[in-house]
Amino acid sequence: MFHTTIAGSLPKPAWLAEPEKLWPRWKFSGAELEQAKRDAALVWLKEQESAGIDIVCDGEQFRGHFVHGFLEHIDGIDWDLKTPMGIRDNRYTVDVPTVTAPVSRPRPVHAEEVRFMRAHTRNALKFTIPGPMTICDTLADAHYGRRADMAMAFADVLNQEVRELEAAGADVIQFDEPAFNVFGKDVREWGIAALERAAAGLKCKTAVHICYGYGIEANIRWKESLGTEWRQYEEIFPLLNASRIDQVSLECAGSHVPISLIAALPDKDLLIGAVAVAPGRIETPAEVAATLREALKHADAGRIFPCTNCGMAPLPRALALAKMKVLAEGAFVMRKEIAA
Ligand code: ZN
Repeated sequence: MFHTTIAGSLPKPAWLAEPEKLWPRWKFSGAELEQAKRDAALVWLKEQESAGIDIVCDGEQFRGHFVHGFLEHIDGIDWDLKTPMGIRDNRYTVDVPTVTAPVSRPRPVHAEEVRFMRAHTRNALKFTIPGPMTICDTLADAHYGRRADMAMAFADVLNQEVRELEAAGADVIQFDEPAFNVFGKDVREWGIAALERAAAGLKCKTAVHICYGYGIEANIRWKESLGTEWRQYEEIFPLLNASRIDQVSLECAGSHVPISLIAALPDKDLLIGAVAVAPGRIETPAEVAATLREALKHADAGRIFPCTNCGMAPLPRALALAKMKVLAEGAFVMRKEIAA
């Protein structure tokens, strides 16, 4: 119990890409870049194992951005036709590429990366991929006309991909859906259905990461506007609990999400964010344990997986490493406490 994992992304080493950026420029190209990505993934794999992370991942070292890293390989998107769009319900405006034709996946995207990771670890292996709603909130649509239709098209493309990732050795497939807390009505109407369609047929564990975003300036300001208690999940947790997704990853460290809301997920594994991802101080093992102890009031220990609040891509490398270590130490405290 209390098996540890991370939400997904980790900082790129400074020799691989510009550090502490969400859209970093690579420092190599061609075959050199491919080798450098594998080297970085291997560094982070071993750092996770050494830190005591049980369910490991590639830290998204193979992709520049958590959404576009997948979309770059998808046909039907015009990358030169940039449309300004207020994404995550106008939290920030980004010039996004535009879907101009039916989307399709001409060849496998991440399977080789999973095979590489599988060959280098005996730990359980997780792979993260953007969910259909978040993809649709990161692209402009000039073809489908309805967001729900575009989401279903992406769900089919994702499903082809994740079935291969499972076959390549992934033990957990996690869909990242940070858009879920902004579009409650759409989540109900088509978001969960699109997510389930993306995960259809998988026999491995499936997870969804929902969150209030990376610890970057625009998000920190937005979070300050949400008041003292964030209850957006109250509406979507019962829907997620009724879904076929096995695990829900959410932020609980220093969060305004009342942890009691997890009581609405009685049938799911819970990836409890027990370290924050805003730049700043490192939690103590006692603080991590305290967050997990709070979760334990609403869920039994077997369903609790200590995790980071969100991806750590924008953090300094040393800070991300320190946070992984303290996460594992806090989980260790709780294992001892339960055994006592
Ligand atoms: Zn997140």
